[in-house]
Amino acid sequence: MDFNKLLGKKIVCRCGMTHYCPIRHVIIEKNAISKLSGLLDGYQNVVLVADENTYAVCGHRTEAQIGARLENKVVYSGEGFLIPDESSITALNTAVSGKTDLMVGIGSGVINDLCKYIGSQRGLPYYIVATAPSMDGYASVGAALVIGGMKVNRPTGTAEAIIADTEVLRNAPLEMIQSGYGDIIGKYSCLNDWKFARLVRGEAFCPWVHDFIQETVQHVAGLGKKLLKRDGESIKTLMEALVCTGIAMSYIGNSRPASGSEHHLSHFFEITGILDKKPYFLHGRNVAYSTVITQRLREELLTLDNPVCRSFDRDKWEREIHRLYTTAARNVIDLQRKAGWYELDWQSLYTDKWAEIQELFAGMPSSVSLEHLLNTVGLSMDEFIREYGEAKIRDAAVYAKDLKNRYTVLWLYWSLIGEDGRFSSDSG
Ligand SMILES: [Zn+2]
Ligand SMILES: [Zn+2]
Repeated sequence: MDFNKLLGKKIVCRCGMTHYCPIRHVIIEKNAISKLSGLLDGYQNVVLVADENTYAVCGHRTEAQIGARLENKVVYSGEGFLIPDESSITALNTAVSGKTDLMVGIGSGVINDLCKYIGSQRGLPYYIVATAPSMDGYASVGAALVIGGMKVNRPTGTAEAIIADTEVLRNAPLEMIQSGYGDIIGKYSCLNDWKFARLVRGEAFCPWVHDFIQETVQHVAGLGKKLLKRDGESIKTLMEALVCTGIAMSYIGNSRPASGSEHHLSHFFEITGILDKKPYFLHGRNVAYSTVITQRLREELLTLDNPVCRSFDRDKWEREIHRLYTTAARNVIDLQRKAGWYELDWQSLYTDKWAEIQELFAGMPSSVSLEHLLNTVGLSMDEFIREYGEAKIRDAAVYAKDLKNRYTVLWLYWSLIGEDGRFSSDSG
């Protein structure tokens, strides 16, 4: 795959936007790390960022490439999950000096987010040496952080270089490979949500970026079995797809083309897990399972003859938000007050657009076929239900939308069905 045609140039698009991705280098191949030293001209003071696990995988090789340019290194303790919270941010901020001119992160989601965030705070470029094909944030704008116990997305630039050694990726823990596949399968749901938001709310939409992601997803969807066997070419294709969807987010300037209702459910499981100190799956695995759930919601909506909006009981809603989001509830309520969507007249919108909405939903792969795709890579809905339980999955379907001010199928489900739904996580 030739990334050069996607990077570093402004693309004036028929959608009215000018798309641009400032990443300078994407190298996805065997032994990619050996090319790092060739990309360091002009940099003299490099801070290396890793955790104990990723450092063990390729820390020494990366450090050898940096050589005498190494100024400092941060190796986070690898116990449990590293969380991109205030203390992780402070540790990296302290390690970066006034002389630092580049950060090189080794890792995947969290290390990438920390470098991305500090990079944009301090005006520093960063390179990421990828250790797993686990999510699509390598090339995207925006860092997912946990601030005050709340999952937040902060605007940032992108990495300057993405270096992915396919032998390293192949040997990543299986759940990280499954996670990357899940993040890609989630695009079926988010692309449908994007078109849905264009239809109902007239949201900005780019057909070219939409089709670019859709084709990328179609390349990967059939690779589940090969990924399960860690087939090198398939791992490479998956990583390329993850980088492509990241580039698409850079093109649009936010995560809309890669994150919809399925990501809101995933965030719900992460946030409530952090708040309640309960375990939760890796991002892309949550996304994978949530993609089946949001498709079941569309299927339930398709059984309605006409859209009839329910009345809104604000007191009851606030009680539920407090029950689920505890210390973060105030932030959630404020976010929705600002968005103002509970006060909108959805009825006339939905009545007008009902036939088109039905047609849009009917174009989705069925929840059963999505579930089969997950099975090919060794993921099963049983595991998902065991982890979270029916009640929590139902709460996610009804209240995950409140974590964001992004319009998706979850709002329609809330307006027309909500907690009264016959939705059940084993209805498929
Ligand atoms: Zn994702
Ligand atoms: Zn466009």
